[in-house]
Amino acid sequence: MSPRRSLSSRYLACLQCRRVFALTELERERKEKRRDVIVCPYCGSTSFTKIFSDIVLIVNPEKSKVAKYLKIIHPGVFAYTLE
Ligand SMILES: [Zn+2]
Repeated sequence: MSPRRSLSSRYLACLQCRRVFALTELERERKEKRRDVIVCPYCGSTSFTKIFSDIVLIVNPEKSKVAKYLKIIHPGVFAYTLE
């Protein structure tokens, strides 16, 4: 199994805010809130992709060119490339 394959099977990226989540984290949240679908806890989107790359850690969004480019205003782990 390639590293990319194993990563993408356990993680999801939100298509709206690009935040990267562990699948188990989103599933736990879904069960707690008794939802039928997975919802992004940050932006409320229900659209996710398992295919993403170029993961970036944004620590200081106000000082980061990448954050500015991607319009990210909160710290976190994000996928630069979404498919
Ligand atoms: Zn989101």
